[in-house]
Amino acid sequence: MKKQTLLALGFSALFIAVSADPVMAYVLLSPRRRWASTPVTVRVYNVGNSTITDGSGGVNAVVSAIRAWGIISSSTTSSPAVRGSAPATIMLNTNGGLCTGNCLAATLTGYYTSQAGDDRIYDADVYTNTSVQLYSSGESGCSAEYDINGIMTHEVGHVIGIGHSNVSGATMYPSISSCNTSARSLSSDDIAARDDLY
Ligand SMILES: [Zn+2]
Repeated sequence: MKKQTLLALGFSALFIAVSADPVMAYVLLSPRRRWASTPVTVRVYNVGNSTITDGSGGVNAVVSAIRAWGIISSSTTSSPAVRGSAPATIMLNTNGGLCTGNCLAATLTGYYTSQAGDDRIYDADVYTNTSVQLYSSGESGCSAEYDINGIMTHEVGHVIGIGHSNVSGATMYPSISSCNTSARSLSSDDIAARDDLY
């Protein structure tokens, strides 16, 4: 099964597949960073993805899906992302010049201000590889497509300050196969990461 990568920019995480005694746990973005308060506002730009045929190009599905984190205030917006300015915005219709090839989606997480031990995020923006075939919970059936609900639940994990986990099945695992919807539901590892920060 083909796997595609879910990318976060502004940090690097290397996953070693074979390890004698792997540490099975989440990783927070480094340096540690969080939003000043919750709920974190995340908007979905209302121009959808042309490969998603659920009537809104995945926009409505993503607005609902990202609430899985429990600390997100989500809605649509007619304003595209402005890098470095709140609110955090998800773009389904452009790769932002960032996300090509095996990348499914990319989150810019580099907008934060230094504060000893606990930096403050003030913006994060998400872009989508528009060359990939995607589908949403609003569609029935899947054939070699990638689940936008799970992809954006993963990316919003980056938005709130979480890096990649090496726990297979966690939403924050760095890659996902086609027609796999497991990233829609948070694992206990994802919840532990959230609760570490908020
Ligand atoms: Zn990622």
